[in-house]
Amino acid sequence: MRSLLTRSIPFATISCLSLPIARAEFPRGVYVRVPEQASEIFRSRFPSRRILYLNHNGGTFVGTKDGSWEENASLNRSSLFRGTRSLSRFPFGEESWNQVVRCVREIMAPFDIDVVEQDPGGVAHIEVVVTTEARIVGMPDNVAGVAPYRCRPFNSAIVYTFAQAWGNSPRSICETAVQETAHAFSLDHEFYCPDPMTYLSGCGDKTFQDVDVPCGEYKPRPCECGGSFQNSYQSLRSLLGLRPPTPMSVHVVTPLSGASVRAQFSVLADVIDYSGSGVARVSFALDTDHSLWETQSPPFRLDVRDPLPSGKHVVYVHALASSGEEARSSVLVNVRTPCQALEDCRDGETCASGFCIPAVGMPGALGQECDWGEECASGLCEERRCVELCDLAMEQACPSGFECKPSGQARFACVHDESGWRGCAVVASGRVSPAAQRGAAFVLSATVVLISLLRFFHGGKTCAVKRS
Ligand SMILES: [Zn+2]
Repeated sequence: MRSLLTRSIPFATISCLSLPIARAEFPRGVYVRVPEQASEIFRSRFPSRRILYLNHNGGTFVGTKDGSWEENASLNRSSLFRGTRSLSRFPFGEESWNQVVRCVREIMAPFDIDVVEQDPGGVAHIEVVVTTEARIVGMPDNVAGVAPYRCRPFNSAIVYTFAQAWGNSPRSICETAVQETAHAFSLDHEFYCPDPMTYLSGCGDKTFQDVDVPCGEYKPRPCECGGSFQNSYQSLRSLLGLRPPTPMSVHVVTPLSGASVRAQFSVLADVIDYSGSGVARVSFALDTDHSLWETQSPPFRLDVRDPLPSGKHVVYVHALASSGEEARSSVLVNVRTPCQALEDCRDGETCASGFCIPAVGMPGALGQECDWGEECASGLCEERRCVELCDLAMEQACPSGFECKPSGQARFACVHDESGWRGCAVVASGRVSPAAQRGAAFVLSATVVLISLLRFFHGGKTCAVKRS
């Protein structure tokens, strides 16, 4: 009897890569059959629910094709190519990226899977690397995405989405990312336009459809793993389970938690109403339980017009759906003196990313060891060091000795490398200081902090921090 390996690989080449040649110019998401016994999960922990990690930072990935065939998102090992590849960042900027993330979350919303932007590290996950173009992994430029594929789901796998195949089209990029993710869960292409598993287009936004439809790209064909029909919704439902109802979510888009702001600033919140009942009210509060401002329709925005005193403040957002469901979020901001140069700041301060921050070595300054955010001037303690967010566009983004580097969740932080700390600054969400929380009586605060902490410990990268 022939081995699975010799049987499955040539099959893949025929069924997936060569089929769409007739429309070679139109971007498409493909899959590549890998051996059924392709190994996965070494030294990984399993989460209680599956995790989908959307990576827009690129990185270095090691190919295992024709070797171990290992798929391991924790160790950046990919069975789709040989050798080592350096993948670029998502090319279309943060605004576009945020739309991609939001779209993926919406399409995956029925299912019990966490869609995160923070590297889950050693916890098993499916990773979508949303990068530039397919030639980086040795495929033609009209390939919009690729995934390893076999007839049982991967617990850990890396799939790819090539944004430049579409141009700056967040919806198309998102739908490709979702298709590739589902390939890693052993879903095939469907000959059915409204579903993200399709190659067909021109029928509007795609979501997973609860209907039995033929497999196929541009015409029906038998499904790769048996049978003639597939139901993407039911397949994902049986694999992932359905998400417990979360009728509404709210999060603060700007400022980022821990950001420096002027005494007058604006807060923009994003509300997703899964219930469909409509947003009844979104209210903002500042440091107290008094509702400061309310609105019923987007944009959900608070303009702080009365100048706030310098220091840390917490902005709370509360969203209410017509169905009565609620969602809450909060963000910590630092009111600081704007500066263009060192002369604009007081003694003991330095000018970085347009604001006066404590000079390195001062209490709570960047790089100081910490256990809690309240020990840090910024309110952010990450990897047991005080962190300052930074603006990559600024000439003097960070104090000397520090670099402005990507730091998860669409943000940048000043990091330095003298202690081996560099590369470990990626965190899930800033820990909001307990003191700041005590200042507010919103019932939500404890919950928000708890969730932040759980996320931090659950999703936080574990890095060895060299201690002096
Ligand atoms: Zn595909």
